Amino acid sequence: MSTDWQNPENLEFLSPEEMRSRLLEAQEFNVRVNTLSELSLKIDAAQSREEILAVLKEDLKRLLEGESAFLCLLSQNRTHYIVHALSPLMDAIEIDHKHFAVDVGMPGWAIENKAAIIVDIASAPSFHPSLEGKLKDLGISSLVIVPVRTWDDVIGVMVFGSSKGGAFSDPDLWLAQLLSLQIAIALRHTGMMEKAQKRLAQIGLVNQIAGKLTTALDVDELLSAASEAIQRNFNYFDVTIFSVEKDTKDMILAAHAGNYIDFLPHGYRQQLGRGIIGWVAEHGQPVLANDVTLDPRYMAYQYHNTNSELALPILINNEVVGVLNVEDTRLHAFDETDVLVLETLCDQIGSAMRNAKLFDEIKRSNQRLLELDKLKTDFVGIVSHDFRTPLSTIMLAAKSLLRKEDTLKPERLREYLGIIVDQAGKLSTLAEDTLSIAKIEAGQLNYQFKIVNVESVIQEALTMVKISSRHTFTSTVDLNCSYVRGDQNKLRQVLQNLISNAVKYSPAGGAITVTVVSHDQQPDEVLFSVSDQGLGIPTEYMGKLFQKYSRVDAGEAVKIKGTGLGLWICREIIKAHGGRIWVDSEVGKGSSFRFSLKRGN
Ligand code: ADP
Repeated sequence: MSTDWQNPENLEFLSPEEMRSRLLEAQEFNVRVNTLSELSLKIDAAQSREEILAVLKEDLKRLLEGESAFLCLLSQNRTHYIVHALSPLMDAIEIDHKHFAVDVGMPGWAIENKAAIIVDIASAPSFHPSLEGKLKDLGISSLVIVPVRTWDDVIGVMVFGSSKGGAFSDPDLWLAQLLSLQIAIALRHTGMMEKAQKRLAQIGLVNQIAGKLTTALDVDELLSAASEAIQRNFNYFDVTIFSVEKDTKDMILAAHAGNYIDFLPHGYRQQLGRGIIGWVAEHGQPVLANDVTLDPRYMAYQYHNTNSELALPILINNEVVGVLNVEDTRLHAFDETDVLVLETLCDQIGSAMRNAKLFDEIKRSNQRLLELDKLKTDFVGIVSHDFRTPLSTIMLAAKSLLRKEDTLKPERLREYLGIIVDQAGKLSTLAEDTLSIAKIEAGQLNYQFKIVNVESVIQEALTMVKISSRHTFTSTVDLNCSYVRGDQNKLRQVLQNLISNAVKYSPAGGAITVTVVSHDQQPDEVLFSVSDQGLGIPTEYMGKLFQKYSRVDAGEAVKIKGTGLGLWICREIIKAHGGRIWVDSEVGKGSSFRFSLKRGN
């Protein structure tokens, strides 16, 4: 009942009893307003949502008539509300902490309509068996429901229930609305505080993790440390880090921590562009999918019951080198704060990876330098040995000649002289090769390109190489391949190296053939081949043999001494002629070294 005090016509004349009862009512209301202001002070002082709920549970019964009270709060994504029972009513426990869709029951109606109501359960417009039905079972027949809101922002509703029908009147509604406003302000305040505190804690964790990353110098170790620290510190359901392989552009599972760890093997590959992770790797942008079923990029794994996924790129100099991926079985598990925190961590991981890669490169080039140093030392040893052997043979032969000058038969004399010429030839090859190395390295090997007679350059090379009696030598030059363009001396050096290798690496003997034919596909080129029936070369070595100091260190070849420089010199010379050199070989059957040159006619 309301009274218009402004209009004297409406003034009521009250009996003394009625006056006393009105007075009592007003006094009672006054007491309740005082209780409300005490309660408001306590709510104001609360530091968290839990503390606000505790204050309400403790003091609410002093404020309002009725047996039960509930605070229904909207979830973060506003799809449902959660009921918090504030009264000691025993059975209220059955709906305490329960979730209801936002369109369910009277609280849902009040949230959607942003309206306060006093209602009898029996005639409730939005009666729901599992909510109002439950309250009815508890003996509650009337309710007052008010939205918990600041300005236009409704965050839930307060519900008061009474076993008496029509128990609530306007003053109850006003008090409930005042209280709800206090609660809304306090919840908003503590929510912001909690967010700020969470952010502060997260910044602390990010710093801790970043500190750990800067000390890791091995990329694999670094990524495992990162995934574990992120999973543990932020309590994520599952964390994976994929690295992007440079050549294939495949994504490889490099580190994994959390609940799905047993499902995907370390090193698991996924193509670029496939799934959310693949999209992130391809586009270099983060993806936040709080309901993966709505994201067409999501690729479901049989064993996963993921509902939310957040994937972010790890970049080095703007190039995607990896993807950090977190997943959860809950819907809407991640928010903007997660994106922010993980983005910062991806930056840290990126720069730690760059450091680790640099360190790795330095380590490897250091290792290579050490190897080269050793090879150079070996080279000096082998070369000085190779120089000494023919020199002492020459010395011996010459001394014998001097001593027996008068008595030697002509054929013995020829034999000694033959040895001297042969060994001197070896020395000159050796000297020539050694000199070439220094010149090639300094970029000072000079060429004199002319028209070269193929037959004569083969013969020249042959006179410098001693073919043993175990080998037979043949050469065939196609008619139209008699001339090439090149430096005669350098080409002789190439043939000499290849022929002497053919002899050296076929210790059991056999046929050595040099053939020169027209190039099938390139009419202006001719092809040289030097073939033997010797040890052959294992496939895994073939690609490397033309590199400096490269040798076959397996099988019989190990026993044969050498520097690993002859083929490198050949390659450099042929390259300078605009040609190509390669080898075809089969272990135990023999090898054919081939090179191409420009035709000279
Ligand atoms: P070196 O013979 O001094 O070791 P090379 O650069 O001439 O150096 O050859 C490199 C390696 O290639 C040799 O160590 C040998 O293992 C292999 N190789 C070269 N020619 C032959 C061949 N005709 N048959 C089998 N292996 C060969």
